[in-house]
Amino acid sequence: MKTKEYGAVDLFRLPAAFMVVAIHTGPFAAWNGFADFLFSYCLCRVAVPFFLITTGFFVLGPGRGEALCRYLKKTLLLYAAATLLYVPVSWYAGNLPGNAAEAFRQLLFDGTFYHLWYFPAALLGCVLTAFLLKRSVKAVILFAVCAYLVGLGGDSYYGIVCRAGWINTAYDGIYFVSSYTRNGIFYAPVFLLMGTLICRGRRNRNRRRYLPVLAVFLPLLCAEGAFTFLAGWQRHNSMYLLLLPVCWCLFCLLLSAKAKAPSWVRGVSMLIYILHPLVIILVRGAAKAAGLTALFVENSFVHYLTVCLVSFGIALFAVYAGARLKCCIRVKKSPESPAARWEQKKPQNASDRAVLTTDKESCRAWIELNLKNLAWNVGQLQGLLPASCKLMPAVKANAYGHGAVEISRALQKLGISDFCVASEEEGALLREAGITGQILVLGYTPVSKIDELCRYDLTQTIVDLDYARDLSALGRRVAVHVGVDTGMHRLGEDCGRIEKILRIFHLPNLNVTGVFSHLCASDGVSEEEREFTEMQIARFAEVVAALRQNGITGFQTHLFGSYGILNYSRSCGESYDYARAGIALYGVPSSPGDRVEAPVTLRPVLSLKAKIACVKTLKKGETAGYGLAYTAKEERIIAVISIGYADGVPRTLSGRGHVLIRGKRAPVIGRICMDQMLVDVTGIADAVPGETAVLIGSSGAETISAAELAAEADTISNEILSRLGSRLTRLVLE
Ligand SMILES: *Cc1c(COP(=O)(O)O)cnc(C)c1O
Repeated sequence: MKTKEYGAVDLFRLPAAFMVVAIHTGPFAAWNGFADFLFSYCLCRVAVPFFLITTGFFVLGPGRGEALCRYLKKTLLLYAAATLLYVPVSWYAGNLPGNAAEAFRQLLFDGTFYHLWYFPAALLGCVLTAFLLKRSVKAVILFAVCAYLVGLGGDSYYGIVCRAGWINTAYDGIYFVSSYTRNGIFYAPVFLLMGTLICRGRRNRNRRRYLPVLAVFLPLLCAEGAFTFLAGWQRHNSMYLLLLPVCWCLFCLLLSAKAKAPSWVRGVSMLIYILHPLVIILVRGAAKAAGLTALFVENSFVHYLTVCLVSFGIALFAVYAGARLKCCIRVKKSPESPAARWEQKKPQNASDRAVLTTDKESCRAWIELNLKNLAWNVGQLQGLLPASCKLMPAVKANAYGHGAVEISRALQKLGISDFCVASEEEGALLREAGITGQILVLGYTPVSKIDELCRYDLTQTIVDLDYARDLSALGRRVAVHVGVDTGMHRLGEDCGRIEKILRIFHLPNLNVTGVFSHLCASDGVSEEEREFTEMQIARFAEVVAALRQNGITGFQTHLFGSYGILNYSRSCGESYDYARAGIALYGVPSSPGDRVEAPVTLRPVLSLKAKIACVKTLKKGETAGYGLAYTAKEERIIAVISIGYADGVPRTLSGRGHVLIRGKRAPVIGRICMDQMLVDVTGIADAVPGETAVLIGSSGAETISAAELAAEADTISNEILSRLGSRLTRLVLE
């Protein structure tokens, strides 16, 4: 993190690394042993906890799963490299493990050289803490605090704790596997946990109060160290009770300070940590060879400074050389232009991108598709229809925003062979994605696109007789379904003009395989709407009968959309070959209160989610967003959600509606922006950067349905869903 926000935390890594060097060199030892104890073994003990808290903060926060994986991998590699580096030294000193048990103990707890215990402790601690965090935060707190107390008993407080014989035996058990309690079980978790907790509760903290607290606790920490030392209790001096408040305050203070850290600080401080024992050996060796032992070794302060400087120099050089090397490798590997490099990586088409990204962690805003629910809905709707009537799902408008390719492929796997779309382009996209059955284009296609209709083997809707004539005149054979207008007065030839419809059938070049109409009030339950729908059903039946009387047979018929199936399939489902289910297949009603005849339960297929980008505090009277549309009446905490109207969140939702964060409702405030929106998260402790906000779907016990969101925006689910943007990643949950 090179961001300014964490600048001070990053900067402090350097003094922290030098503190570790102090622990291993004792800068004031030659001058006054007790003063050195207070400095090196009390004050400098904050260094390692600081590193652990930093780790907890950056990789164990909510929604940081990927960061954790990266950290574990990197640390494991570093540990392996450092272990290899110190093998010769250990061998020379005769410290190589003598048997497998000893090797195991070194690798997992003690470290393969005296300072390398940090790596297994951090690794083990992270895994343990992350594992427990998945269960509950309380569980981690309980575990980490108890473990630290046990650790204290085996460290600075050993003298009083081990007075009881049985406790002594218990600690002997611990020391059998780990030389100290300062390890991944008793020591690291509490500090890692602190990092997580600070990350979670970051925003509502007044940081200025940490300086006085620190000023009080630091001397007390020294006092604790001195006391346990003088009382003869210490078996070791890594763990103190007061390290907990001191390190907490120190980290919060650093977080609140604004500073800029150069990008090399992280690498250099880590290398100082790893390399300084080697440098100690070098300095001693060189001083002896040069006859300067009195100055460079016996003068502990000069010794300390020399080790610090040399370690720093080597580390800085290594980081610089590493960066240059990386650059060289990168240039060698890809001599092409950046554009060419992108070409290679580019997914074949938009849908492949959805397959590539199966990881929510890396999305800013995304859709989750539940295909089990899709299959369930297919079963429910099919159950309402007679066996002779097949579903012809409407996958137009990118399958109502769900992703036409993903949904159609899933439906094809479920045995569905016919689909309807709104345009030639939508049909072509499905063909290119490998959809094989009949694809009916429900909307208007300019006849000049006859090439595409033929090439992609699409069935075109006949809008009226004139359109049919134009299409036929081009002289190429096209498959068509004849649209019949039974009262909606949208597409289709007038049902009262049978002679015109007959003429369409007799045009050359048109291969008429079906006749259909569309209901426009089948979702209504009023007397008027029922009568109108029944009239439409009757009119369509008359057209079909008239065609048959005129000797025309072998065509397919379809009339019902979702609400036709849900409200009218009991009365006249027998009559049709297909039902064009759209919204019901996606498992949502158009509007929240929609009543339907059929006893079905449908399950929503889609959830819409986005990440919290950042969280901030508004003081009373401050405004938020465009047009000063929101004013905080009192101090409020707000979160910025990384989704906006360009993704399909209607702008009319400004100042209305909610999102869900960990099962709690956060109201939308201010105006919805193109790429972001703001919500009020006062009192929602889980609302932290990286956490997920649910716009459609469930979170905890709460649910926001597409229909609810639509009602809030004065529209129907169909519109909300179908406008979900191409910028969203679509994740398929099998
Ligand atoms: C969109 C559409 C459908 C599907 O409608 P739903 O109400 O979503 O099931 C059916 N038929 C036609 C002609 C359509 O345009």
